[in-house]
Amino acid sequence: MSPAANNLVRWRPEPGAVLGFHKGLARTVLVSVSDLEQRLAKGARACLPRPFESVIGLALASDRDALAEALLRARTTWAPPRSFAVPETLHFEVAGACPLDCPSCYLERGAAAALPWERLRQTLQEAIDMGVLQVAFGGGEPLGYEPLEEAVALAARHGLGVSITTSGLGADTAKLSRLRAAGLDHLQVSVPEQPSSRDARLGDAPWAALAAARAVGLSTGANVVAASPALTELPAIAAMALRGGARSFNLLRPKPVARDRQSWFERNRLRGEDWRRLAVAVARIRSKMPEIRLTLDSALSPIIGLLAPHHRPRPTAGCAAGRRFAAVDRNGRFKPCSHLQGAEEESSLAEYWKASPALAALRSLEETIDPGCRECPDLESCRGCRAIAGGETADSDCWRGC
Ligand code: SF4
Ligand code: SF4
Repeated sequence: MSPAANNLVRWRPEPGAVLGFHKGLARTVLVSVSDLEQRLAKGARACLPRPFESVIGLALASDRDALAEALLRARTTWAPPRSFAVPETLHFEVAGACPLDCPSCYLERGAAAALPWERLRQTLQEAIDMGVLQVAFGGGEPLGYEPLEEAVALAARHGLGVSITTSGLGADTAKLSRLRAAGLDHLQVSVPEQPSSRDARLGDAPWAALAAARAVGLSTGANVVAASPALTELPAIAAMALRGGARSFNLLRPKPVARDRQSWFERNRLRGEDWRRLAVAVARIRSKMPEIRLTLDSALSPIIGLLAPHHRPRPTAGCAAGRRFAAVDRNGRFKPCSHLQGAEEESSLAEYWKASPALAALRSLEETIDPGCRECPDLESCRGCRAIAGGETADSDCWRGC
């Protein structure tokens, strides 16, 4: 795909709205049909949602037919309640195997199976046909997955945004060049927040991977776990990531890990005052390092009430499992997100998205969740992480003390 094509905005119909995706920026925006039509009629550009302020002119100039078609189809598009008509993003857990043994890994020790290529190809093709906009390949360690280049090429050929999440081990310039040539857009590297969270064999591989990715022209980002003992270190780690070549810095909430590593989660989970310390770290990174794009994992949504107490809830905020995205495990089964159990054997992604009882339960959490979250003013922009709270239980680690 040419750089020019990377700058195009693809538009997809949603009920009463269109979802735009800019591959070069890896950003999406949901705009209601009436809002967009009014602005188009007036030729107004400046008031569109922020991520698209700078590219809307390009979008309108280069893809007017596709936009017109999406606007037309938005009038008859159906979606399950509180979710997109089809997933915006699909996560593939391509490999269970990893040469490392990090205490913070969510996979069981010795989880070795890899997603069979034919199953990946079939599901990816279905996702492309349905209109999924982005795919992310992870693991285990995805860089050791043999058909990875083929998978990247298939997704990229159809204009999807393609990213890989890696520990950095094995991410040398030659491999990343081949992946870039196949159509990879973005490399997300997991950077240790404290030495005790990672296998010592990792060494400086994450930093070498970031440098190699920048050298071959990939967009790069660092994933860092906002672990309780490391919260005050986060600004320093962000500064290192920036110097190391990362252009985005994604904070992840510690989540339950495989049963045989559960003590790591107990030592690192966020509770009570941790949330305020995290809010201070986030504010510091934002003010001192505006050049790095700071993003927060949806499991960190409770922090919105601390950072922006007077915000208006966005329809796309909060836990996105089964609403905006889904995951495919290494056995080819579907899950609402990589961190949730309860994978289902549906034969097709469309059927899973439309008819899964587990997804229906997630989409009705606003009515069924325990009172601690149900009575919270931030419920619609949060809902608490299900991987941590489970089922319909309120998130008892939240700073609100529910
Ligand atoms: S269950 Fe947790 S980890 Fe999964 S999408 Fe929701 S907030 Fe994120
Ligand atoms: S009480 Fe529940 S919904 Fe409210 S911020 Fe905390 S986790 Fe989120």
